[in-house]
Amino acid sequence: MLVHCAHARYVYNLAVEQHAHWRPGRRSAPGFAEQCRQLTQARRENEWLGAGNADVQQQALKDFAKAKQAFFSSGFGEPIWRKKYRHEGFRVIGTDRVPVYDDDGGPLLNAKGGQVMARRVRVQRLNRRWARVAVPGCGWVRFRLSAKGKGARPPEAKTFRVTFRNGQWHVAFAVVPAAIPAPGTGQAVGVDRGVAITAALSDGRALNCPQLSTRERARLRKHQRRAARAPRGSERKAAEYAKAAGLKAAEAGRRKDWCEKTSTMLARRFDVIRFEKLNIVNMTASARGTLERPGRRVAQKAGLNRGILAQGWGLLRQRTGHKAPGRVQDVPAAYTSLRCSTCGWIEKNSRKSQAEFLCVSCGFSCNADTNAAINIAASTTTKVAAGQGGIPRPRRSAGAGGTTPHPRPSVREPQPTQVGIPLF
Ligand SMILES: [Zn+2]
Repeated sequence: MLVHCAHARYVYNLAVEQHAHWRPGRRSAPGFAEQCRQLTQARRENEWLGAGNADVQQQALKDFAKAKQAFFSSGFGEPIWRKKYRHEGFRVIGTDRVPVYDDDGGPLLNAKGGQVMARRVRVQRLNRRWARVAVPGCGWVRFRLSAKGKGARPPEAKTFRVTFRNGQWHVAFAVVPAAIPAPGTGQAVGVDRGVAITAALSDGRALNCPQLSTRERARLRKHQRRAARAPRGSERKAAEYAKAAGLKAAEAGRRKDWCEKTSTMLARRFDVIRFEKLNIVNMTASARGTLERPGRRVAQKAGLNRGILAQGWGLLRQRTGHKAPGRVQDVPAAYTSLRCSTCGWIEKNSRKSQAEFLCVSCGFSCNADTNAAINIAASTTTKVAAGQGGIPRPRRSAGAGGTTPHPRPSVREPQPTQVGIPLF
């Protein structure tokens, strides 16, 4: 399976490189179909590549095509190179073919009257806890069924993905889950993602993603320190790294669990869910700079990066989108944290501290993240109708009372084309 990982990574990185070297004015960079043709040729010319599994290599190209498509929606930017040890994994497409049935239970026929067939991965359940899946070139591979309740049966999936991370192998089946029906209350919610509060909701709730405890973090540092001091290539070094990896895996597991539960809750409770548009790449980019132009506040930015990555914002947005298709909106993030949610006044001085918002115009006071979340909920930049439920619409006018004339706002109203300003 490690060989599959290496081949998938190699092919994916070749695709990244092809597109990275493309410049405007040249012929368009090769698409998925052209890349598949080139892969076939490369397999013929390179014996070691040809010895690998063709489906695994082709699915790596499919992964790349998907990453390329997600460029505008994911917030993660262009696909980047996969690194050894860090991005180990491959996708397998099922070889079994099963007939497809329509909603009434009758066989689904194509235009010529033939039965429509779909690919299925070969998977068998062994007992309550264990199942096995056929991995090309490796035979049957046993795995533990981790999904609880209705998920504890072998999934009917078209493809699955095997990953090797933090010393653990995982298998994940690509099953499109049934969408969670909207509650029909017409209510919209805004979600403000931040470092101090992972997700502040416009109804005033603050949701926090679980992290490692102080003790666990101390243990993690201890193992990392011991590993760093152990002689190169020693068994002790490997053992210490494995212990550190275990702690990191536990943290990742908790984060994922939280994202799943939170996204299900959002999809069940609200008709429309609005997230602010984040550019995660810019926000997590290193502040280190170059030798000629060293960056400022490198340590602070690095700490923030860790904080951001630890929160799993991207995953929360993605899973909510899966569970509430068509009901999730991304709204521009500009000035959501500086605008008063009651009177619409934008003023830098209104934000007294990280946590406190006190409008200099109308005197409205609120948690700063909740204020931002209310602004996000009230954003009507997109088509879906906003809810009637209790969300004040922002307006630019003389504030409540209106006794004193307004000073000029310290910040300009954002222009429609402008999407977000870096606030730190
Ligand atoms: Zn105000």
